[in-house]
Order: sequence, then structure tokens, then C-alpha cells
Amino acid sequence: MELKNKNLLQTEAYINGQFTASASGSKFEVMNPYDGTVVAEVSDCAIADTEQAIQAASEAFQVWKKFTAGKRARILKRWYQLQLENVDDLAQILTIEQGKPLAEAKGEIKYGASFVEWFAEEARRIYGDTIPGHQGDKRIVTIKQPVGVVAAITPWNFPSAMITRKVAPALAAGCTVVIKPSELTPLSALALAELANQAGFPPGVINIVTTTDAKAVGEVMTSSPLVRKLSFTGSTRVGKILLKQCADSVKKVSLELGGNAPFIVFDDADLDIAVQGAIAAKYRNAGQTCVCANRLFVQSGVYDEFITKFTAAVKEQQLGNGIAAGTVIGPMIEEKAVQFVESVVSDAIAKGGEVLTGGQRNGDKSSLMYEPTVLANVTTDMSVYSSEIFGPVAPVFKFETEEEVIKLANDTPYGLASYFYGRDYAKIWRVAEALEYGMVGINTGMISTTVAPFGGIKESGFGREGSKYGMDDYLEIKYMCWGGIE
Ligand code: ADP
Repeated sequence: MELKNKNLLQTEAYINGQFTASASGSKFEVMNPYDGTVVAEVSDCAIADTEQAIQAASEAFQVWKKFTAGKRARILKRWYQLQLENVDDLAQILTIEQGKPLAEAKGEIKYGASFVEWFAEEARRIYGDTIPGHQGDKRIVTIKQPVGVVAAITPWNFPSAMITRKVAPALAAGCTVVIKPSELTPLSALALAELANQAGFPPGVINIVTTTDAKAVGEVMTSSPLVRKLSFTGSTRVGKILLKQCADSVKKVSLELGGNAPFIVFDDADLDIAVQGAIAAKYRNAGQTCVCANRLFVQSGVYDEFITKFTAAVKEQQLGNGIAAGTVIGPMIEEKAVQFVESVVSDAIAKGGEVLTGGQRNGDKSSLMYEPTVLANVTTDMSVYSSEIFGPVAPVFKFETEEEVIKLANDTPYGLASYFYGRDYAKIWRVAEALEYGMVGINTGMISTTVAPFGGIKESGFGREGSKYGMDDYLEIKYMCWGGIE
């Protein structure tokens, strides 16, 4: 790896403003998913390190919450600037540990940094209310205050942006944070810590605990009375465990969990735009995002034409090393993930599904590269219909009516992202209102932006990230009732 700023490759946990070895001294290896080479060895923290980080965050909270919003904003803005100045290095680190193509990695760094800029701006707009009193001598005022120490547990699919999306609003609100990044991608998190150090956050405001023992660290985070809020992005399975664990100390919780996004193409859609959108919504990050199109539903009048155009476009997607120019789809994250994709594809084939392109690994058996795949003749009894595929496989279902497709689209415990293409404006409103999802892309496959509220309903979680709503999850409303004012 040829970094311009070599300090960005940090391998020790970041606690109380210092890069620190774990108390046990143990380390774990971080692999490049493209070729399995070891990229770095990183501190393997455990219970004692996590307790230390929480303690540091708790002490720093007493200092940080008293900074004026303007002062917090200025430090956040420096952090944002540093992320942009180091975008090439940050993207390289991200691609090496995660596998996504460099261009996508750069996009993620910029997207991630945009939350820091946005919430730096929002810091000064944490307004309260004055409310007309309910009795003659009463005056009512509300203020908003930071919740306290925030624990953030983040996934490997966006190793940088899922951190800034939580940490930026938390810090802007006046909270301090302890972050546990995924064990598969700790380096992007530590690079952000190095830049935070340069930006001038007081020690303990940001802490990063790297570990292979997510369960033990998660238990400390969720049971500590010093932690007042948990923000988690990851699987619904783990989200449910953490939510239960948080119940004992009644923590405030935000969960951004799995999805099973429908991508609907109506007869009146512009098919070229729909194909373009489907490529973006399905194959970005090798299909490993929680908003990836999971089930494509195409109306019978355009089904054949869509399938032909879509399959041709999928065949052009270049699979390869994320670092290499021209690569559009990189390796998947780990063997387990590829095996899961293989299992859903063979289940589909066994039940009559037809592979139009892809359907296998590219190269030898140890390769984590799965070819971009299109499946036709798919039915609702297949696991591609009910499970979150999290890989580059697009099952294309045929439907007849609007009523039928709404039923199919909502037939899942998930409710994160959804997409549809059509032109009739009354239908657009009807469908957008009927979809039981937190987010709806209408004639677009790209919906993530700092300025809009990202989040789900049902088993996809609760809480919103980004937008003017994103700060609410890190604030408490306090109401003051002033009496005796005659
Ligand atoms: P994914 O399927 O995206 O890997 P996970 O839910 O397994 O989703 O992982 C998301 C994050 O949750 C990662 O940082 C992982 O280490 C962490 N994690 C996994 N299991 C637990 C657990 N029992 N307690 C706390 N964190 C966990």
C-alpha cells in the first residue's frame, strides 16, 4: 500500500487520545479479501480495554458537553477537512481491507465526511421551545441536552461512513463515543481516529476499541451504566440481541438493521433508466449493502425486454481487484458470505430458477469473487425471495397488477429501502404510500444522502441517520416548568 500519509495506517486501539496496545497484548490479523494476504495486525481488545474506553469517554463528556456548539463545530469541520485532504489514502485503506473498488471507496469517504460537515453545521441549531403556560403563573421552556456516552457498533460493508454517520451527530450534540468497528475492517476506523487526533478533539471524546470478541465487548457496552445510548448498524439477528441487552439499563437505542428491498418496474417505466438504477441498487459493493435491491419485480408487459437489457448490462460489470482500474465489482467480504450466496442460488436452481448470467465464483474455490448473477423463473418459495442475499445476485420476479406487487413487496419482516419505476403520477403516490418501508426510491436506485433521513421500520430497526432528524437520537428533551411568576 503506497500511502502519502503513513500515519493513517494505525494498528492499535484508540483510547483516551492515545493509540494503545490491548491490555492482554494480543492482536488479530486483518486480511485483504481479494487475495487473502495479511494487511496488518491490530490490537485485540477485551473487557478491561472496553471499560477503560468507557471511563475515558465518561470523563471527557464532562468537558466536551460544556464546549459551545461553535467550538464543537469548528473541531468537527477540521476533521471533515482532513478526511477530504486524505481521501486517496483513506480510500486505499478501505479497499485493501474491505475489497470494494477504489472509486466506490472514494465515494464512501466523501459520503462519510459529508455527515461530519453537515452535523458540524447542525451543532449550532439545537433549539429548544418556549410553550405557553397552562396556568397564569407558569412559564414553560424546553432545552435539548446530549444523552451522554454513546456506544457505536458498526459493520464492515461501510467501514468509514457507518462510523461518521453515528459519530458526527453524537459529537455535534455534545456526546462522547466508544466505537467498536467490525473485526474485518478496523483500519478505516483507526485512520479516522488519527485524523480526529489531528483535528484537536480532547482526549476521550472519541475512542475506538478493536476486537475479535464482539460479544464480550458488546456486553460491556450494553451493561455499563455509564453508556447512555447504543447505536448499531448490522444484522437484524445481532440487533435483537443488543436491544435485549440494553433493556436492563433502559438505554436509548438506534438500530439500522437488515433489509429485503423490493425493486419494482411497472409497464410504463423508462426501461433504460430502470436498468441503470437496478445495476446501481443491486451490484454496488458486490451487493453487500442493507439498501441493495434484493427482489426485482417486473410487470409482465415489459418483463422480457427488461430481462434482456438488464442481463446485457450485468455482463458488462467487471469483476476484479478493487485496487485495479476498471474494476466495478470487487470480492465479497469472507468465505461465509460467498457460501451463503451459493446456497441461495442452488436453492433457486433446485426449485426451477434459471441462471441468465453468473451463478458461480470467478476463479478457483478459494476466491471470494462471485460473478454478478441474474436469476429468472424465480418464485416466492425460494430463499432468494425471503432472505437478505447480501451478494451480487438479482432474482427477477414477474407480476401482473399493482395490487399484487404491493402485497409481494410488503411480504417481509424487513422495512428499510424500496424502489420503483413508473410514470403515472397517481400510481406513484399510491405505491409510495403503500410500501411499508422507511425509504422509497422513485425512478432512482441511489437514495443515500446526508441531507435525508436514513432508516427503517419493522425489523429493519428504528432511529434515523443524517438530515435534520439525525441529531434527535443523541439528544434528550428537558422541560422546565417555572412557577410563581405573578
Ligand atoms: P454483518 O452481517 O453485517 O457482519 P453483524 O451484525 O454480524 O452484521 O455485525 C455488525 C457488527 O456487530 C460488527 O461490528 C460485529 O462485530 C458486531 N457484532 C456481532 N455480534 C455481536 C454481539 N453479539 N454483540 C455485539 N456486537 C456484535
